[in-house]
Amino acid sequence: MDIKNTDRQYVMNTYNRFDLLIERGEGCYCYDEKGNRYTDLTSGIGVNCLGYCDCGWADAVAKQARTLSHTSNLFYTEPCVKLAKTLCKRTGAKKVFFSNSGAEANEGAIKVARKYSFDKYGEGRNVVVTLRNSFHGRTITTLAATGQDVFHNYFFPFTEGFRYVESGNIDALRDALDGSVCAVMIEFIQGEGGVIAQDKDYIKAVRALCDEKDVLLIADEVQTGIGRTGTLLASENYGIKPDVTTLAKGLGGGLPIGAVAVYEKAENVMGFSSHGSTFGGNPIVCAGALEVLSRIDEEFLKEVVAKGDFARRKLEGAKGVESVSGLGLMIGIKPADGRKSADIVKKGIERGVLMLTAKDKIRLLPPLTITEKQLGDALDILLDILAE
Ligand SMILES: *Cc1c(COP(=O)(O)O)cnc(C)c1O
Repeated sequence: MDIKNTDRQYVMNTYNRFDLLIERGEGCYCYDEKGNRYTDLTSGIGVNCLGYCDCGWADAVAKQARTLSHTSNLFYTEPCVKLAKTLCKRTGAKKVFFSNSGAEANEGAIKVARKYSFDKYGEGRNVVVTLRNSFHGRTITTLAATGQDVFHNYFFPFTEGFRYVESGNIDALRDALDGSVCAVMIEFIQGEGGVIAQDKDYIKAVRALCDEKDVLLIADEVQTGIGRTGTLLASENYGIKPDVTTLAKGLGGGLPIGAVAVYEKAENVMGFSSHGSTFGGNPIVCAGALEVLSRIDEEFLKEVVAKGDFARRKLEGAKGVESVSGLGLMIGIKPADGRKSADIVKKGIERGVLMLTAKDKIRLLPPLTITEKQLGDALDILLDILAE
């Protein structure tokens, strides 16, 4: 079968795919149909945090698939409960709801915030403030939450009740927090927006302002969570505790999962029949996520930090690099001389290195298990391309 053309014919053409067919993967490497090897610095957009087909992860998933594959949420199952407890113990959250994607997790968080406010203050306090240049997902509501005009097109009417403020500007946020606001939703590092890390003092001020106004602070950690920035959650790096944290990408290690974790304030907001998901908390997916969490311990996180520092030392000030951004193994590289990040990523594929773009940046989200040597070799190729 001509896979590429058949894809174009039968799969809805919502993606402008790279001209690369990936057939199999192992660790940080994947292979095309001709057997060519690529070092993957994308992790399937931050998903394969243990790399491709990690043995421990594959065993956990296969074992669960042979034991109990799916039951729905009408019954108790062990993997779901274990994962919820582990997540709470590791993050300080009180309760978790499992969904199947990042966008769904954010929808859940928005529901929590609106109900928290409704229960306490009644109707009319339902606006969620998000930051300009943010990205929160592709459903109608999370597109509305996304603070970029390019996403607010075609699909009208979008969900009401969103307001956008300039990121980093605490006065703008204070002005936006009138009596109609129930939540502020942020990414600690804007991923799709260009790997732009928020300032720590700004985040602390946002936390204080939300406390003062009894407005929930929702942290969208769909991309930054699960070890990516060198701490289990990026909120630890920023020294604050949100009221709601959303997770997805890295959590499943390669299977679809989303999670809404709530802290004290929102612990008891959602009751019977306030939310649901047929697949959410699926035993196989949860078994994979449990393996991911069991592997990301203190030692593992220290190595993520070390590998991130190593990459930054190599990249900063190198020929063709204007600036380096991000945290841990979430890395943004702005090419010098206005070179297009997409062109460089394309050249990377020809040279056997897979990378992402985020606006004008090259974005790297390598598997957290990549070795320094593997990362260094791939970065040498990138630096070669950048120096051309
Ligand atoms: C990827 C992403 C989402 C959307 O996640 P999906 O699983 O694609 O729905 C939401 N927020 C952030 C910050 C993301 O990076």
